[in-house]
Amino acid sequence: MIPVRDDLRALEGYHSPQVDVRVRLNTNESPVPPPAAWRDAFAAELSRVEWHRYPDRSASALRAAIAAWHGVDPAQVFAANGSNEVLQTVLLTYAGPGRTVATFEPTYQLHGHIARITGATVVEGERAADFTLDPDEVRRVVESARPHVTFLCSPNNPTGVVEPPERLDELVALAPGLVVVDEAYAQFADWSALDRVDDDVPMAVVRTFSKTWSMAASRLGYLVGPRWLVAELEKVVLPYHLDAAKQIAGRLALDFVDDMDDRVAGIVAERARISDAMAGLDVEVFPSGANFVLIRPRSMGGHDLWQALLDRDVLVRDCSSWPRLDDCLRVTVGTPDENDAFLTALAGALSEVHA
Ligand code: PMP
Repeated sequence: MIPVRDDLRALEGYHSPQVDVRVRLNTNESPVPPPAAWRDAFAAELSRVEWHRYPDRSASALRAAIAAWHGVDPAQVFAANGSNEVLQTVLLTYAGPGRTVATFEPTYQLHGHIARITGATVVEGERAADFTLDPDEVRRVVESARPHVTFLCSPNNPTGVVEPPERLDELVALAPGLVVVDEAYAQFADWSALDRVDDDVPMAVVRTFSKTWSMAASRLGYLVGPRWLVAELEKVVLPYHLDAAKQIAGRLALDFVDDMDDRVAGIVAERARISDAMAGLDVEVFPSGANFVLIRPRSMGGHDLWQALLDRDVLVRDCSSWPRLDDCLRVTVGTPDENDAFLTALAGALSEVHA
């Protein structure tokens, strides 16, 4: 075996176990596929692709469609293979050896993970016990670490917490570097940082087609930010990184905004329904602005509950061994039937402990 880079020796991969079960509520995907009309339009356009040619390197039609939807200039939009590749490109450009990246934990693991892979130092700020951000801690971290990149994930994964707009404004005013607002779940919440994007503000918003758009399989995400930032990212990302099929898939998805809005409204309603139902059970339920809910059983271990749910054919995300998330499980909102199955399994698992 050939040794890897010294700084990567202790690195662990990012894992999300995929188990074959009837009800899969562990990866925050949409529980339903995109509309059939989208699939037909996609298939028709695919048949006309010139496969012997490289795709449009600047993904102009896709970026124009995203820009039109958000009311921004296409030069403010950077698209990549999932928002993970957007995050990676930002970090390759602005992090790296000798630079510092700040996160507020617990949060999306890949922010710190990718930053470390680029060779940057990651400074982890702490959240309060209810997982909200404490303005004093934000100030302490930003003033002491002077980060080149600071992440704010809102709604936060895996806690579901939505940061109030004031917290972002404070952070942007304080941070010496770039502020990246990860909005993978923002369409399930009641506000977005998108209207704060401005060429004079070193802040960018990252979004994905994997959740609200029901297109996790196509691996497409994007950033809306200052023009100068997008221009720098374009220099760093690989040429032709977005294949022709993905560019078509994303552009056509934006013809179905109403369907997407309906799906989001359905999930938000189901989120309220399962949260209310769980409030009557022996679990702590954290308020969520996303398409998932974080819970913590009061009278049994989190991992034991995860196993008891799996025994009942329901897979949720086991966060119980993650730092700062003792005994917590994250449950993706599914279809009404899936959510009923989850609630039945949860009630059964919890009552078994009391029996
Ligand atoms: N950001 C957050 C907060 C996420 O939870 C996820 C998906 N788990 C991503 C980014 C990455 O999404 P994708 O690469 O599928 O766009």
